[in-house]
Amino acid sequence: MAEKRDYYEVLGIEKGADKKEIKKAYRKLAMKYHPDVSEDPESGEKFKEISEAYAVLSDEEKRHTYDQYGHAGMGGFSQEDIFNNINFEDIFKGFGFGGGSGGGAGFESIFDLFGFGGGRRNGPRQGDDIAYHLDITLEDAATGVEQDIEVPHKKICPRCNGSKAEPGTNPRTCPECGGSGQVRHVSNTPLGQFATIRPCGVCHGEGKLIDTPCNECHGKGIVRQKSTIHIKIPPGVEDGSRLRVPGEGDAGKRGGPPGDLYVIIRVKEHSLFKREGANLTYIMPISFVQASLGDTVEVPTLDGAVNLKIPAGTQSGTSFRVKGQGMPHMRWSGKGHLYVKVKVITPKKLSPKQKELLREFADASGEEIYTEDKGFFGKMKDAISH
Ligand SMILES: [Zn+2]
Ligand SMILES: [Zn+2]
Repeated sequence: MAEKRDYYEVLGIEKGADKKEIKKAYRKLAMKYHPDVSEDPESGEKFKEISEAYAVLSDEEKRHTYDQYGHAGMGGFSQEDIFNNINFEDIFKGFGFGGGSGGGAGFESIFDLFGFGGGRRNGPRQGDDIAYHLDITLEDAATGVEQDIEVPHKKICPRCNGSKAEPGTNPRTCPECGGSGQVRHVSNTPLGQFATIRPCGVCHGEGKLIDTPCNECHGKGIVRQKSTIHIKIPPGVEDGSRLRVPGEGDAGKRGGPPGDLYVIIRVKEHSLFKREGANLTYIMPISFVQASLGDTVEVPTLDGAVNLKIPAGTQSGTSFRVKGQGMPHMRWSGKGHLYVKVKVITPKKLSPKQKELLREFADASGEEIYTEDKGFFGKMKDAISH
């Protein structure tokens, strides 16, 4: 992108220019670059550039921000925010653009040119997308689940069907705009006819006036209601996945389509399994005897228990893989694995008999053990004699 030019430079004025000078400079340039009169193919861009410069410099707050921080400081203002500031009617008072009464090149086209459709605020608008959070269990995530959810959203009022008028009554055509929702001011000037099109202030661009508002929606045309929506959650769904349900967001405006519903899935933590992608981990406590001698143990899976062989001499922290007992893959067939990580548990309480056996075990291993039975001084002596 080309470097943005300084607003003062764009308008060809001094930094200290007062409001009058700014307006005069803009007016002169706007006449030159107005897309309806200019032959310059880049007139649209130029018109936008000068309009932006004028919109900022003619507003005290925006100008102050710009003087302090330059273009970087303007990030806090939206395009619409900036351009809304210009009163084109006032600027072009006494001058004319547009191709006569039939020509559509009024200010509507300028807003279109700016790319934010300011002149089309009265047209159909798509409704907002909405989000719905759904908690499911790991088991449900593994098998996939179908369920009904109750979603609050804005719907077209069923009583008036969005017309806003009580059934049996008829909206009146707005006398101000004749039902078009727009008012067009045409004036003859030395430059030709000058037309501006703005939303009608009486009907707010609706073209109709409602004398008896609908009893259910109170003349809003939309109601907030809960709908039951059936959703299918695929097997293997991951925490944070978004499920799109087209058309179940909020109702559109002025005949626009509704938005979409996004169901955001949260997979609850499981008491036994930790999930990592398609794999699951289970921490299996085993005794030091099992770890030493080996054993066959039962481990839980999402599908019921399975047998797992623990080989003799297993160290604490060793992982064993149980194939195919993880979560289904979302993108391909098959499942991940279940990793059983063993944790050797040291007994906290021993009976005298168990103690005796362990001492015997230590003897047989040639291991000398200091226990409380020998006493503190015995321990000390042994330590020194080593
Ligand atoms: Zn209604
Ligand atoms: Zn009107």
